[in-house]
Amino acid sequence: MTPLDTLALSRGTVDRLTEKRTEEAWQDAAWADPGTRVLVVSDGRALARIDDEHAALVFVPPRQAPEGTRFLLGRDDADGIVYFGLSARLPAAPDGARPALLAAGGTTPPSPPEARAVSLREIGTLLGDRDAGLLTHAVALANWHDTHTHCPVDGTPTVPGPGGHFTVCPKDGTEHFPRTDPAVIMLVTDPDDRCLLARNAAWPGRRVSILAGFVDPGESAEQAVIREVAEETQIKVTNVRYVGSQPWPMPRSLMLGFRAEAPAGQAIVVDREEIAEAYWFSRDELLAAIQAREIALPPPVSIARQIIEQWYGGPLPSAWPDRR
Ligand SMILES: [Zn+2]
Repeated sequence: MTPLDTLALSRGTVDRLTEKRTEEAWQDAAWADPGTRVLVVSDGRALARIDDEHAALVFVPPRQAPEGTRFLLGRDDADGIVYFGLSARLPAAPDGARPALLAAGGTTPPSPPEARAVSLREIGTLLGDRDAGLLTHAVALANWHDTHTHCPVDGTPTVPGPGGHFTVCPKDGTEHFPRTDPAVIMLVTDPDDRCLLARNAAWPGRRVSILAGFVDPGESAEQAVIREVAEETQIKVTNVRYVGSQPWPMPRSLMLGFRAEAPAGQAIVVDREEIAEAYWFSRDELLAAIQAREIALPPPVSIARQIIEQWYGGPLPSAWPDRR
């Protein structure tokens, strides 16, 4: 089994500079450097220029950055440029495009592409490695700052610490760190090497995917795989193997990918609340079902799609429509 090597949001080439996060003087100097670049994130979106096959983030120099919560993303060792993220309202695009209107429109921008506000889901696979890592990191931190604004001990509004990777309660001095929720996602095969695909009751249309769920408190990832498959389909699995992980900061998940095997003689019984239906697919059946438009797979930006294609042995056609 080859490792997953095409996970769109697990790329990233920038040194996170964790040792600089508490050095305020160093950060002030970096912020004063006109060569520093700032990525502004608002509601999970950032400005990017997109053509059919590529996307590039639009950064601003610090003096053009709006007011907002600032956090250090790191430094690109290839050129020495330091990157900050900022949770704020998006600035006007440099070419005068209006991000909100363009984002709502969802149309393909003309060439040369105008900057518009886009999400990780939309451009995760189109960005280069550096930008994919920067946007994933920035969206994760911005989501945390936007939703964790008060001290969980006494309810006092917190203030960001230097570097923006923690907050401090001014009343009791407690420090609070970003949250990441571990989730497991697993491709289950039967003795004929057919894979189990399910349709979540909350998904519209023909969308199917592999099973997934959050890790419970006090539970290992492997235990979560076994429990979730049993809860959703009453299939008991063995030989649980880790295959790779991808951050999914929408809003704060880390997807832990697994394969697992279902011994023979078991019937699928879906719960009908979370899972509407689930079926075994051989490789030929899967391809035929996609081509007949009976089912649609998750988009390539997802770890689910990559795990399915790893099992299939190559790229598969079709995807869910973009969610804009
Ligand atoms: Zn407090």
